[in-house]
Amino acid sequence: MISRVLDEKKIKRLAHLIEGARRIAITTHLSPDGDAMGSSLALSRVLSAIGKDVAVIVPDQPLEQLRFLPGAKDVIVGSRYPDFAKSLFAKADLIICLDFNELKRIDRLAPFVEASKAAKVMIDHHLAPGDFADPVISHPEMSSTCMLLFRVLCRLELFNVIDKKAATCLLAGMMTDTGNFAYNANDPDAYIIEAELVRKGADKVELYNRLLNRVSESCLRLTSYALLEKMEIFHDFGAALICLTREELNRFHYVKGDTEGLVNKPLAVPGIVYSAFLREEDGYVKVSMRSKGKFPVNVLCNEYFGGGGHLNAAGGEFQGTLDECAELFRSLLKQNKEKYIDHSKN
Ligand code: 5GP
Ligand code: MN
Repeated sequence: MISRVLDEKKIKRLAHLIEGARRIAITTHLSPDGDAMGSSLALSRVLSAIGKDVAVIVPDQPLEQLRFLPGAKDVIVGSRYPDFAKSLFAKADLIICLDFNELKRIDRLAPFVEASKAAKVMIDHHLAPGDFADPVISHPEMSSTCMLLFRVLCRLELFNVIDKKAATCLLAGMMTDTGNFAYNANDPDAYIIEAELVRKGADKVELYNRLLNRVSESCLRLTSYALLEKMEIFHDFGAALICLTREELNRFHYVKGDTEGLVNKPLAVPGIVYSAFLREEDGYVKVSMRSKGKFPVNVLCNEYFGGGGHLNAAGGEFQGTLDECAELFRSLLKQNKEKYIDHSKN
């Protein structure tokens, strides 16, 4: 048995909202990842099975490697069909927001959700949830929204409605948000849930190969180049930095997703407790950070890079050039060490 952690009142309210809704819109964050897509598709499948008219609306195109997930081809991409997305939110009786905590994370869809008269629900595991939904089912201690959603479905007495395809989607999110149960992976319940999903027919070996062990030749070369030529290691400060310019990305035929996971790699070096990857975009820099132990990259991203996230995985956007962003990161090394490394047992 998994432990009982969800708030009874919130579950009751959610059950009531679902029961009363005919049309349900599910939405998730920009650049939908395995957890965002997995949770949205699993919930869509379960709610469709109990007779609801469900649409999954995402702000932009999900990663190529996620398109094999059951139902992925049917999602409505807001950047392509904004009017259709708007009308779906307007017509919905209920909007369920998965894997994000603030409306700005759904980008161009935010005004549509705000304008809709539908009841709004949040099911998420990011810190500091906003108050645009009721109920807000927020559990930052959980490693994935998929794991949280599994618990929610159990409490809604929908466990038996989770079929092989929904189980596949849920396991996909649990695996991608933990690097195949390598980080945020000390919750014993995760393995009970994993076992239930495999029992329902989810093929973990196939998911691993498709989601976590697949790489294009150009991506492999870009990663190798970034590590060989562009990785700066600041041993005295426990930090690492990788910057890639537009020109470099183009040289390696960069497509979205190719630098996913790159920021984690320097953390394998002993003594390195936080790592940043800066990618030059048109007019701004996308910042991605990871850490080990107690080093709070979410605080750093929030204070200096206009973003946020989790203790060990965060990101943001820097308005300026790549060099300015890198200089800012380097200028913070000493103060970060004094503030977060010297005073904690990383
Ligand atoms: P990634 O480095 O994979 O892009 O993002 C890691 C985590 O950082 C995400 O799951 C999200 O919680 C957070 N994050 C990434 N980019 C942003 C951003 O621009 N703003 C905020 N608030 N959080 C972000
Ligand atoms: Mn997630």
